[in-house]
Amino acid sequence: MSITPNSVEARDIAYHMHPAVNLRKFEEKGGLVIESGDGVYVYDNTGKRYIEGLAGLWSVAVGFGEKRLVEAAAAQLQKLPYYHSFNYKTNGPSVDLAELLISIAPVPMSKVHFTSSGSEANDLVAKMVWYRSNALGKPEKKKIIGRIKGYHGVTIAAGSITGIPANHTSFDLPLDRMVHTSCPSFPHFGEDGESEEAFTARMLKDLEDLIVKEGPETIAAFWGEPVMGAGGVLTPPKGYWEGVQVILKKYDILLVADEVICGFGRTGKMFACETYDIKPDVLVISKQLSSSYMPLSAIMMNDNFYQPIADESDKIGVFAHGFTASGHPVATAVGLENVKIIIERDLVGNAARLEKTFLDGLAKLAEHPLVDSSRGIGLIGALELTPWEQEGAGAAALAVAEAIQEEGCIIRNIGEAICFCPPLIITAEQIEEMFAIVLRALNKVA
Ligand code: PLP
Repeated sequence: MSITPNSVEARDIAYHMHPAVNLRKFEEKGGLVIESGDGVYVYDNTGKRYIEGLAGLWSVAVGFGEKRLVEAAAAQLQKLPYYHSFNYKTNGPSVDLAELLISIAPVPMSKVHFTSSGSEANDLVAKMVWYRSNALGKPEKKKIIGRIKGYHGVTIAAGSITGIPANHTSFDLPLDRMVHTSCPSFPHFGEDGESEEAFTARMLKDLEDLIVKEGPETIAAFWGEPVMGAGGVLTPPKGYWEGVQVILKKYDILLVADEVICGFGRTGKMFACETYDIKPDVLVISKQLSSSYMPLSAIMMNDNFYQPIADESDKIGVFAHGFTASGHPVATAVGLENVKIIIERDLVGNAARLEKTFLDGLAKLAEHPLVDSSRGIGLIGALELTPWEQEGAGAAALAVAEAIQEEGCIIRNIGEAICFCPPLIITAEQIEEMFAIVLRALNKVA
């Protein structure tokens, strides 16, 4: 791409430091300027249309240009554009959204606390886990178990629970309190001749061995995404979540389910905790909570988690944590309207109904010579490409991802995987359109 002086692309390179890029490559290459969106499509600044195969960053459930969200934001901006929730103050939209979330939670939950990003939410849960252990008179119970390839964000605690090396290297992470157990992806880590059941048993043994080695009395919590997203859309093997929960109960370890991607219908149920029968103490949500129209995340916690924390705040005199934007009324007003749309339009049902079309389409693409296999659940899935030995790890997926974008679809390549997570409003015809683009791109690269 040639970059015209003083264009938005040129000024982007000059002034704007981006996340998740090679900063030196970015200085040469620049970025694609997305200018507008409508439904499942976005448009760049030349007017070219793309089907958004990743719903932005796994997040725009209701699609782009949803007027009800624009109106909810505008109405709240006019009425009360900002207020905080410190010092015994509150606002209506945050209360209404908290109440709605409690009513749809997959397990009985007591309280909701609002934050602005998935990283912030996970970081705060880590702090609350430590606060709670102190409250219970167990100051030694502080370690947190994450999983290799798990992703929980990039702040210091959340980034430490994340199990992806690139998020640690040179950032001096992870913190010593965070340890990681095996990644339960059968297609990636199953051994030759090993059955899925035997693989699950091995993953559970790894977890229990780690707990015993570290000392169960030192371990406070286990973190997991029901389906790992940023690790490359990794679905759990049969019996995994059931087995994990038995082990956590045995050693009195809290379970934090990170549904930042999975929540609000992605797996075909409102929460993936329902899909996999997971009963967490804490549920972390974001992304599809507001369809990312506003930065918003939330922590939902059960009584077992909340009560010792409330006692400790009483002892200290204050729960001395909070952000200027905790319970921001415009963000929660948009979140409230968004969750209402998801319920009213049965977008969770849409994901369940389209699961077969989506997974069959992926399986058909897996017959292509460049593709090794496919996987997914609900409306989240991936194609695993056969690695190119000479060009190196991830080269095949990068080439295919670039070709897919040229053909008019935006997806994300992670390792050897091409990941899909379209808006929940997508139709069967649009899934076909998306996969036709992917097939053209695969043929172009082959
Ligand atoms: N948790 C999960 C499961 C995620 O997928 C992400 C982001 O992709 C995060 C946490 C971090 O969220 P954020 O980027 O809003 O900080």
